[in-house]
Amino acid sequence: MPERDDRRQFHHVRALMAGTREGMIAVAPDRTVRMINEPAAAMFEVTRNGCVGSSLDCLATPQLSAALDAAFADRVPVVMDCERNGRDYTCTVTPYEDGKAWGAIVTISDNSEILAVRRRSEAILTSTSDGIIIFDPNDRITFVNPAAERMLGRGIETLVGLVTDTWEVFGLSPDPEGTVRETGSQVREVRIQEPESRIVDVHVDPIVDDRQVYLGSVTTIRDVTVEREAMQMKNEFVSTVSHELRTPLTSIKGYIDLILDGEAGEINEIQQEFLSIVKENSDRLVDLINDMLDISRIESGRIVLKVQPLDIAERIAGAVNTFRAVLDQHGRDIKLDVSDNLPLAAGDPDRVGQVLINFISNAIKYSPEGGDIGVHASLEGKLVRVAISDEGIGIAAEDQARLFTKFYRVDSSLTREIGGTGLGLSICKSIIELLGGQVGVESEEGSGSTFWFTLPLASEKHVRTPALEGPLGSPGGRILVIDDSEDVANLIATYLSRRGYEVVKAFNADEAWEYAIELEPRVITLDVMVGEGAGFNLLRNLKADPRTADIPVVVLSIICDQGRSERCGATDYLEKPIDKKRLMSVIDSLVGSLDSPVVLVTDDDKNIVDLLSRTLKKRGYAVMAAYDGREAMAAIERTRPDAILLDLRMPVMDGYDVLEALKADPKTADIPVVIMSAYQIDQERANILSLASQLVGKPFDAEELVTHVESVMSESEQS
Ligand code: ADP
Repeated sequence: MPERDDRRQFHHVRALMAGTREGMIAVAPDRTVRMINEPAAAMFEVTRNGCVGSSLDCLATPQLSAALDAAFADRVPVVMDCERNGRDYTCTVTPYEDGKAWGAIVTISDNSEILAVRRRSEAILTSTSDGIIIFDPNDRITFVNPAAERMLGRGIETLVGLVTDTWEVFGLSPDPEGTVRETGSQVREVRIQEPESRIVDVHVDPIVDDRQVYLGSVTTIRDVTVEREAMQMKNEFVSTVSHELRTPLTSIKGYIDLILDGEAGEINEIQQEFLSIVKENSDRLVDLINDMLDISRIESGRIVLKVQPLDIAERIAGAVNTFRAVLDQHGRDIKLDVSDNLPLAAGDPDRVGQVLINFISNAIKYSPEGGDIGVHASLEGKLVRVAISDEGIGIAAEDQARLFTKFYRVDSSLTREIGGTGLGLSICKSIIELLGGQVGVESEEGSGSTFWFTLPLASEKHVRTPALEGPLGSPGGRILVIDDSEDVANLIATYLSRRGYEVVKAFNADEAWEYAIELEPRVITLDVMVGEGAGFNLLRNLKADPRTADIPVVVLSIICDQGRSERCGATDYLEKPIDKKRLMSVIDSLVGSLDSPVVLVTDDDKNIVDLLSRTLKKRGYAVMAAYDGREAMAAIERTRPDAILLDLRMPVMDGYDVLEALKADPKTADIPVVIMSAYQIDQERANILSLASQLVGKPFDAEELVTHVESVMSESEQS
């Protein structure tokens, strides 16, 4: 009976072996093949009959023989890959106990197809010139291609197996929003220093299969050094050309202005008319160059935005004012509709002004038949929204989408006639987006357009640093003008000497240094490009030498380097071509403030600040104006005032807090403070007020208040 059972089992096993697609071989303890199925025989190209009873070595596959030895020796299954006739097999040799001795079962599977697919995908990943890193769902690196190894300067062996985040591999902090699994794709531009300095675009994308199962992530690293360098070269080219154009234009514009102002003697009507045309066109050229420079700054990321709280109503009024003359000429007007009590927005006042002027100028330009122009400002959620509408030619829907791209102009006889660069709106969009807002247009062809933009509200972290303004009255004293262009130096000198200043000119850094030491000018104007960039060194040296450190330096420059100028110690910064009025007011207030006592006026009511500033300046004081406590603290940090006029109730940081902070700091504790308040005193904090020198109730008489300031100042001088 047991024999019959054995036989039956043997048949079962044979049937099993015959029925499977896997190769199977049963090996006896003496290494002879006991059974081999058809797939196995085919794989090793032997006949089953020729093989059974022979040693396993008859398969002529040394790795298999070795695996069998290992399995017998260690009595554990051994897995090995082998290749026969270009096909790939995986063999598993599993030992089993056969009576007292050990036999083995060999199973062989043909992986050729799967491996071919895998090889192909790996070959593709290996051959691409983009670097590729693959992570499994547990953030473990499973694959790194040679391009990635090369770019990172790290061997595959130092990367595969690491549990990490792509940004960490680049030495950066992870995305604050979360992992790729949480956030979806992430992109950054990364500068690699080692082994070679490169700029790369790094994309990290989640890998999700068709059943939405997350399989990990893939990081693609693309070398964009050449593109970025080309872009930078283009930007540098534009910027150099524009600068080269600006220097002669500064002279052209300046001298025409002088002639038109009658500074070169009387001119007749025709001369006046012709020169006006020259002036108009040189202004257009300046605008164009400014636009090109703006674009190149924006594209190269060199634009510097001074974000501070801004009163949008004030900006709108300022912008509308610049069009007053043009509007009056055509008997047109702009209707303002600005909500009361709009909160302060956050923005760069000059740049927001630039956007407003651009939108308003377009509204005028593109409504040649007249019609109403309106400026509307309101609060929308946490944004200030400004809309400029006209009843002009309007814009077709298909053009609207492309309007904010560079150089785009709607093609029509009118736009051709009006002329323009098509750069304005693209600059506006970039500026507003950099400030955290948005721009847009609503329009219908033939019935007018509304261009709008939004700005975020000012938060506590935006602090305006109030400027120092000198007293009213006649300026005078010696000014050193440093500029390597003789024409420009002469122009500035003409402006200044007509205003009563004595001017000394220096055309290079050495000369400038000598004059600064010897002649002790009150103010210096410096073109930082003097002597091919020696200007910044000169500025630093002037600020480092005790003999010249206190002389205020106004940087005049054709390049946008306000940040650098301020870091080097410049007191103020003006861009070329020089705006005569601005230059004069900067110089006047600097000269005026030099010997005058400085008073800081702090009140959130702009009218009160203006009134007090004017009264103080008339009496010969230099004034700084702050509209809340934080601005006051920022002002004091920059210039120590001789007295402070302080309102108690203010937004952001109130008068009590300012007073307390001042008295707690030994550097500011002795500055006399005059409190002005219309409100009831906060009894709980009344003790703080004892720190003030004087308390004045509102309403007050400005002149009277100034006498209070004078008395506290003389008291503090005596003590
Ligand atoms: P420019 O005015 O110098 O051409 P902009 O970038 O300011 O450049 O404007 C781009 C184009 O958008 C203009 O050429 C004009 O076709 C269109 N556009 C701008 N503002 C208006 C408007 N208020 N009404 C109609 N079309 C406008």
